[in-house]
Amino acid sequence: MKESASPESVLNKPTKPLQIVIAKGDGIGPEIMDATLKILEAANVKLEPKFIEIGEKAYLEGITTGITQDSLDAIRKYKVMLKAPITTPQGKGYKSLNVTIRKYLGLFANIRPAVSYYPIVKTKHPKMDVVVVRENEEDLYAGIEHQQTDEVVQCLKLISRPGSEKIIRYAFEYARKFNRKKVTCLVKDNIMKLSDGLFHEVFKEVAKEYPEIEAASQIIDIACAHIANRPENYDVIVTTNLYGDIVSDITAEISGSVGLAGSANIGREYAMFEAIHGSAPDIAGMGIANPSGLLHGAIQMLQYLGEPEKAAFIHNAWLRTIEDGVHTGEIYNPELSSRKVNTSEFADAVIERLGQNPQKFDKITFNTEEDSRIFIEDKEYPAKDKKLVGVDIYVDHKDRNAEKFGQMIEKASEGNMPLRVITNRGVKVYPDGLESTFCSDHWRCRYIADEKTDLSNKDIIELLSQLNIHGIDVIKTDNLYNFDGKRAYSLGQGE
Ligand code: NAD
Repeated sequence: MKESASPESVLNKPTKPLQIVIAKGDGIGPEIMDATLKILEAANVKLEPKFIEIGEKAYLEGITTGITQDSLDAIRKYKVMLKAPITTPQGKGYKSLNVTIRKYLGLFANIRPAVSYYPIVKTKHPKMDVVVVRENEEDLYAGIEHQQTDEVVQCLKLISRPGSEKIIRYAFEYARKFNRKKVTCLVKDNIMKLSDGLFHEVFKEVAKEYPEIEAASQIIDIACAHIANRPENYDVIVTTNLYGDIVSDITAEISGSVGLAGSANIGREYAMFEAIHGSAPDIAGMGIANPSGLLHGAIQMLQYLGEPEKAAFIHNAWLRTIEDGVHTGEIYNPELSSRKVNTSEFADAVIERLGQNPQKFDKITFNTEEDSRIFIEDKEYPAKDKKLVGVDIYVDHKDRNAEKFGQMIEKASEGNMPLRVITNRGVKVYPDGLESTFCSDHWRCRYIADEKTDLSNKDIIELLSQLNIHGIDVIKTDNLYNFDGKRAYSLGQGE
């Protein structure tokens, strides 16, 4: 590596012009974005920004997606975005624009580092330095939900082999590039054997290609407990979308505050940088939010844009500020802090320290010779031998008596696919169900053909029309397949 340049020369040397899209977001978004931009400007970062309005303001103007076509076109043109948090209502209203942007731009990797700043920022975990690599496009965040009966709503969890392989490979490449020693995969494949099972299987396959990096895997629930208790045992974590969302909030919070951590959303062509926290409506407009999370997002952006020296320069000034005890309210502690500051004062304190290095924390240096970007190629996968072997037909039926329901269904469906089992919320209730099993109005009737039968969709359509003639309220079907001769659907509990 080259000898590092003097602080004055880094400060005086402007970056190349950086064309980026900036969205100030909702809640505390505008406050922390203004503070972040003030620091970047003082550090001689030459931004050529295009400001766009997204989130609440766009919704209130009647744009149901939360983003105008012009704004989307601007993101596509500029390719890189710095985004403050936006508000998404819970349980109702418009869909999450964050999720939409990530998927629309193919930002498959979400990188969320969490480092503790002990003893300056209060934490129980002085040695913590964890990077969560979260899958960003699939899983339950596909957002495919249906109410199917009065009593039951479903949400589809989609895990793909290409999606899993891309994020897992990204985690190992990240570990290799940034000298990390271990990658831990978090799943729940003792329960979701097919979906989480696929993610885990791909992890084991990919791990073999990185023998120098330790590969471990854990069940997500105990992993969360261990992470909360002993985060120093983790290095890089790779996991699916929902688990990654939860785990990265835990790692950020226990490192000191959710207000500290930045987040990079990376795809093949586009990238978006943000804080990991949300729009914090409870403190919006008060000018007291910590801008550090968004500033860390901006520092990740500078690395991505090929300005590692400037990124390290700002990071070191930030470390010095924190080290000097200049703290916003949520991390202020009279025993450890010297000054309680608001958002704008915090930015001024960082600016005053541009050119200074931390004295207690390690000084940050980013490799100036190596491209910090990680490219993962899309792959083609050989087609498997797929054989239709049966169908799950879901029925809305109000009487909770499983025995009566089963007999009615058997009578209503006589053909070349025998009824194998009926389950209710995944548990076998017919034949030979237990009276103690509670039955909702959402029944799954599983039909499996004889091994010799060459089944086609036509057989399923015939079965459906028989059920229809008998007045059965069918609400959906799932085809059952074997892939390469192996059963590729889960059994019901007790089946
Ligand atoms: P939140 O992260 O906004 O707030 C959680 C708590 O942390 C609050 O008490 C808040 O005051 C505090 N906090 C967060 N950031 C802080 C900061 N920079 N400085 C000081 N304190 C800070 O989480 P929430 O309340 O669950 O979500 C609020 C809204 O944000 C929701 O609409 C949610 O959908 C949205 N959200 C957006 C993003 C994003 O845009 N990427 C991410 C998460 C949540």
